[in-house]
This record gives sequence, structure tokens and C-alpha cells, in this order.
Amino acid sequence: AHLDRIAAVDGDLHAFLHVSSAEALATAAEVDAKRAAGEELHPLAGVPIAVKDVVVTKGLPTTAGSKILENWVPPYDATLVERIKAAGLPILGKTNMDEFAMGSSTEHSAFGNTKNPWDLDRIPGGSGGGSAAAVAGFEAPLAIGTDTGGSIRQPGAVTGTVGVKPTYGGVSRYGLIAMASSLDQAGPVTRTVLDAALLHELIGGYDHHDSTSINEPVPGVVAAAELGAKGDLKGLRVGVVKELSGEGYQAGVSARFEESLDQLRALGAEIVEVSCPSFTHALDAYYLIMPAEASSNLAKFDGMRFGLRVEPAEGPVTAERVMGATRGAGFGDEVKRRVILGTYALSAGYYDAYYGSAQKVRTLIQRDFAAAFEQADVLVSPTAPTTAFKFGEKLDDPLAMYLNDVATIPANLAGVPGMSLPNGLSDDGLPVGFQILAPAKADDRLYRVGAALE
Ligand code: GLN
Repeated sequence: AHLDRIAAVDGDLHAFLHVSSAEALATAAEVDAKRAAGEELHPLAGVPIAVKDVVVTKGLPTTAGSKILENWVPPYDATLVERIKAAGLPILGKTNMDEFAMGSSTEHSAFGNTKNPWDLDRIPGGSGGGSAAAVAGFEAPLAIGTDTGGSIRQPGAVTGTVGVKPTYGGVSRYGLIAMASSLDQAGPVTRTVLDAALLHELIGGYDHHDSTSINEPVPGVVAAAELGAKGDLKGLRVGVVKELSGEGYQAGVSARFEESLDQLRALGAEIVEVSCPSFTHALDAYYLIMPAEASSNLAKFDGMRFGLRVEPAEGPVTAERVMGATRGAGFGDEVKRRVILGTYALSAGYYDAYYGSAQKVRTLIQRDFAAAFEQADVLVSPTAPTTAFKFGEKLDDPLAMYLNDVATIPANLAGVPGMSLPNGLSDDGLPVGFQILAPAKADDRLYRVGAALE
């Protein structure tokens, strides 16, 4: 049914870069056979899933939205994909994204825009616009996203889906094509909080292939979602982050946010205001740290090892000139912009001034979180300042594009988990997101509050 739906609507939505019909049907048949034989199955066995194209999948093309990886077929699976396959979830295909996960609109994909199912003239968010549009457009009930600065949560907000960025280290990064290794985290994109919890529990947990993987059991997210669904939040302290609301937020976004706070009060939660002054510098710090790490991670795309190789049109074919020609042709403008920014920030003489200061801001943000979590069990804010904008509206203004992530980035810098929950429609009739943040390794709190509000 989902493959039929993809065939019917993906011509318009373009959520998928590759549809793996044969593989999906084969997995579904295997699961049916096991079920018929009375084998015990994972609760999500047979439930189809879409995977963001930045996650490597053995035998299925993986491009990360870039021409430089066009036609590359990985020889191995990411750990999270191994777990998905072992549990018997048919993989429907790979979803569109901003090139190397750099962007907030999916307009930076080398393979064309993905459209928002709510309004085909509008962006589905980014970088994981394909995963969000696939779920919102009923092409897939579940999807995998990755979130370095908001790429699961912001697309979730503007498409009316649930998106979760787990605690850093909670889900293995092995087999994610790295953007910024100290910030990247994969997580669920779904239509309900319980679906997200089931998927989170499946893909989460220790993996010796990832040196930053947390070697502890996954927080009890499914139990927390079930508890939350009973709608009792008595005694829970909810902190409203002063710096993440007000000026710059669309009126309809702020109105829905206030209504959700009323709903939380009605469920017995206590609302307190908290202040995280360093959050106002989060975007600045992120746009130094992320490009610095990305410039290093992307150095491997050199025309020598895998993917595209372009030889210079004239003159000698030296390694350096092949790298130049390959990267010149293979990378899009946003990727080039960030590689240049990152290389500059890391260069001798500027390192302390830029990268060093950004790391200090990062520490201040972590301290702000620690202080806020002494006053509140969870923190909340709107996920994104506005609803989905129209194609092209922010494409020529990188700074305006970067502002979409003002509320999501602090969580990545501190490594804490975050969820975006559908929060009704703004006055323009478009979906709004409600963000919940919890302390590191307390992902279960997101699910309790999310399920209570749902
Ligand atoms: N939109 C942010 C950026 O462009 C976040 C991207 C992400 O989370 N991958 O960097």
C-alpha cells in the first residue's frame, strides 16, 4: 500500500531519491512467513520505513543529496540500518535532503526540491525534508532523520510530524555520512509519539563501532510514552526558555505555543520561566563549529576513493588538480560556502579567535542547560520561528536561512535530547511545532510530555 502511495504522489512530492520496491516487498514476505510460522517478532516487524539518504545502506544508492556521491552504492549498512533490517522493517527507499545535511529547506539537494505535502509551493524543512514529507504525505509511516542543528525537528515542525533528536551518543553514528561529528545524531520521524518511541528503542543503544556511543541501556522511552498517554503530568516542572520565544516568532506560532502551555497546566504541570542567556550566541557558535568539523569530514571526497571523479579539462592530470576539478563540479554552493568558512575558522592565526571562542560559547550553553534543568524537568519552546516558507524565499540569504534553527541548535551544542511535536496550525493554515528538551540521557521525559500533549 505504501509503495502504491509513493507511486501515486511522489511525482509531486519528490520525497524519495530512490525507491527500493523489490527489497521492501522481499522483507515483507519474509516477515509474513515468520509470522505464519509463529515466530516471535519485533512490534515494528513489517512496518515500512524510509531512510534519509545520508545513512549508508548496503546495496542501495546513498548520495547524501550530493552529485559527488551520485551512483555510489555502499558495501555496508549503518548500525541503525542493521537493527532495522534485523527487526524486519521493509526499507521503502532513501529520502531527499539538503546536500550533506546543510540547509533548512531541502533546496540545497543536488537532485531537486522536495515539496511540503501541506502546500506544494512551500519547503518541507531541512535538511531532512524528504523524510518529513514522506511521513506527512502518508508515503511511509516511519522514517529516519539526522539532526546536527535541527534537521529532524524543524522539518517535523513545518510538516506536522513528530521528530526526535536523541541524546548525543544515544543512537550509533556508525554509517552516517558525517557532517559535524560532535553534533550529528540520528533519530525517528513519525506521526505519533508512541511510534517514535518504538523506533527510538529499536535503533538506540550501545555500538562498539561508534566511540561516542553511550554504553548504557536506552532510556525507557516506550514506557514513558505509554505513561504520558494517560495524561497525568502532576508535579512535573516545565521551563519556558525566555530566549526562545517572543520577537522574531510568527504570531500564530506564539499563539499555539501559549495554548500548549495552558494544556500542560491543565494536565497538572507547573510552568516556570527559565533564562538561558548564552542561547543568544548559539547560532554564532554553531556556524563556526559545524563548518569547521564539516570541512574536515568532507576532505575525503577527493575524486580518488569513491564517487565522482573529474579530470581537469586541460593541463596536467595531477592529484591536486583532479581533487580541485572533482570538488568544483561535485559540491554545490552551500557546501562550498561551509568548507571555506570552516577552513578559515580552523586556519593558523584564527583558530583561537574563531573555533576557540565558539567552543567556549558551547561550554556556556551547556552550563545554561545545567542551571535550567535544576529549575525544571523539561524545557519547552516553539520548534521553529515560522511556518513553512515558499521556495526561493530565503535561498539567496544564507543568514535568513540559518535563523530557522535558532531554537533547535542549543540542544545539539549541549548534546541533550529534543522532540518536535505537532502543535496545531498557524493562522496561515500551516503546521506549527512544539519543542521539548530534556537533560542528557533523560530522553524518556520527552516521550512522557509529548504523549500527554498529543
Ligand atoms: N539547518 C541546519 C544547517 O543547515 C541544521 C542541519 C542539520 O541538522 N543537519 O546546518
